Amino acid sequence: MEEKEKEKIEQQPESCNSDCSSCASAGNCSSQPGSMIEETNSFNDIKKVIGVVSGKGGVGKSLVTSLMAVNMSRLGHKTAILDADVTGPSIPKAFGIKEKATANELGIFPVRTKTGIGTISVNNLLENDTDPVVWRGPIIAGTVKQFWTDVLWGDVDYMFVDMPPGTGDVPLTVFQSLPVDGIIVVSSPQELVSMIVAKAVKMAEMMNIPVLGLVENMSYLKCPDCGKEIPVFGESKAQQAAEEYGIELLGRIPIDPKLAAACDKGMIELYEGTWLDEAAGKIEAL
Ligand code: ADP
Repeated sequence: MEEKEKEKIEQQPESCNSDCSSCASAGNCSSQPGSMIEETNSFNDIKKVIGVVSGKGGVGKSLVTSLMAVNMSRLGHKTAILDADVTGPSIPKAFGIKEKATANELGIFPVRTKTGIGTISVNNLLENDTDPVVWRGPIIAGTVKQFWTDVLWGDVDYMFVDMPPGTGDVPLTVFQSLPVDGIIVVSSPQELVSMIVAKAVKMAEMMNIPVLGLVENMSYLKCPDCGKEIPVFGESKAQQAAEEYGIELLGRIPIDPKLAAACDKGMIELYEGTWLDEAAGKIEAL
């Protein structure tokens, strides 16, 4: 472990969540809130960092990350995606990226999508896309930190971080090490009736990270013949859940075979849909 990092850990109470208001060591602690935040590469100027989280896997978190990045890029902003889902990376596939990342003595170059979104994912570094990442938690967390510190992102208006699902080691590292300006919580309708989403929301609150809102994915199915919305998993509970958690409902995305096909073919940049326009507006207003 680097000396700098060791020092930081020694200075802070073990359970530091950067919230001094609830800490017994407040006032006796040499750390300042947010002091575990890592500096990004000196060549970078990253203005806003948005985490995309979910309670569990397979609910469309990577899809929402990709759609949000495409939306912001279409609005004319310099956009990037840091794929922190190291054991289940989906970003290169959604954008049809096969290239490996290159580097020089100053850092690693992000891999650009067809429309110029800068991305980095563990799959850009592995020899084979299908090689599993069988690494211990601290190594995975260290990799994510390096994606922040060692990648030459350049000038970025909005960086989206595709977080691993749940409330484990890596989300904790991202919240502590990256200056996250807010998170978007993605959920499927079934997940909303369980307590899983609440845990993700509460974790962000514990870490003093603003929750920008909730996106309900796979919310309904639109009949291709008559356009009627079919609530496959029952009537949407998204509004009710958002109110319960005290957060905003940013959007509802239908189950759409075209979306699945766009992801599978690496053509997510061609999607058409206005489901996340409100979320984009909210982020622009940050
Ligand atoms: P997560 O990141 O939460 O694990 P993904 O975004 O990788 O989930 O989505 C899992 C799979 O479901 C992907 O193959 C994706 O294309 C598909 N999918 C997600 N949302 C939708 C949707 N609204 N309509 C159709 N397919 C979807």
